[in-house]
Amino acid sequence: MHEVATLLYFTPAMQSAARQRQEILNDLRGSIDRNQLEVHYQPIINLDSGQVEKAEALVRWEHPRRGVVAPDEFIPLAEEFGLIGQIDDWVSEEVFRQIGDWGERAPAGVQISLNKSPLQFRYRSSVDRWLAAFDGLGKGSGTAIEITEGLLMERDPVVLEQLLRLRDAGVEIALDDFGTGYSSLAYLKDLDIDYIKIDRSFVSHLRRDSQEAVLCEAMIVMAHKLGIRVIAEGIERAEQRDILRAMGCDYGQGYLFSQALNALEFERMLGAGEREESDRQRA
Ligand code: C2E
Ligand code: CA
Ligand code: CA
Repeated sequence: MHEVATLLYFTPAMQSAARQRQEILNDLRGSIDRNQLEVHYQPIINLDSGQVEKAEALVRWEHPRRGVVAPDEFIPLAEEFGLIGQIDDWVSEEVFRQIGDWGERAPAGVQISLNKSPLQFRYRSSVDRWLAAFDGLGKGSGTAIEITEGLLMERDPVVLEQLLRLRDAGVEIALDDFGTGYSSLAYLKDLDIDYIKIDRSFVSHLRRDSQEAVLCEAMIVMAHKLGIRVIAEGIERAEQRDILRAMGCDYGQGYLFSQALNALEFERMLGAGEREESDRQRA
């Protein structure tokens, strides 16, 4: 009886959701070959100076019928069906190609950070490929990798070894979505993390005298005591920026400063920033 009810329930809505998922998955398989992926860059601002010092590389999928599909929709599918390695490798290659292409025009000294799926750290071969790509650019090429806290929880020796290999190659490590998982001080201390990124959920409700203000300040103080720098994500209002700056937060990222931009727009934005700076110095 119970099974019949479940079957009846399953039929219309779930079937169409399943079909849609299957379609997206099929299309995702061909997305790299069909040149449908693009990397966008979201500026990260030094809150003291107001200058762009870093940017996060974020993948975009331009689907021929659906339009732009958000990564939140396809990254989990890619992880589930073993396509994430290919996508993340493509993003790295594209970023390195882009840095090479920027060359002299380079967004001088801007560090690009790449999101890496936790799953990839289980394979030495993925990290071999990243390191080979980094080597092509010369060591200490000013890149960082963003990982989530979950990755560190299991204390898998292979994973920890891969992180150390990246560190040794001069790649900085940022802990993404900080505060949402089961962050433990011990992990931060042992692993020589360079940055924590305070999750957007704390920043979006941030007001003076709010509980989020207490939590943000605690995270900033704790990180600084451990020699770790702090990036706040999802800053949308000037008030949030000002509160965070007053707390000593090092960097900010969010729509207040800029959305993620394609390579050309990003280059133009930096060029405009440099022109403003030199005008200021001349005046
Ligand atoms: P994330 O790593 O937490 O990236 C930040 C997300 O917040 C981005 O969404 C960004 O566009 C969005 N965001 C930035 N500022 C603001 C703001 O002020 N307000 C609001 N409401 N949102 C803001 P996006 O690009 O949709 O990416 C979503 C997630 O997909 C990322 O979250 C990351 O986990 C994943 N992702 C994106 N690109 C890649 C990639 O190349 N590889 C892997 N493995 N994951 C990726
Ligand atoms: Ca990220
Ligand atoms: Ca994040």
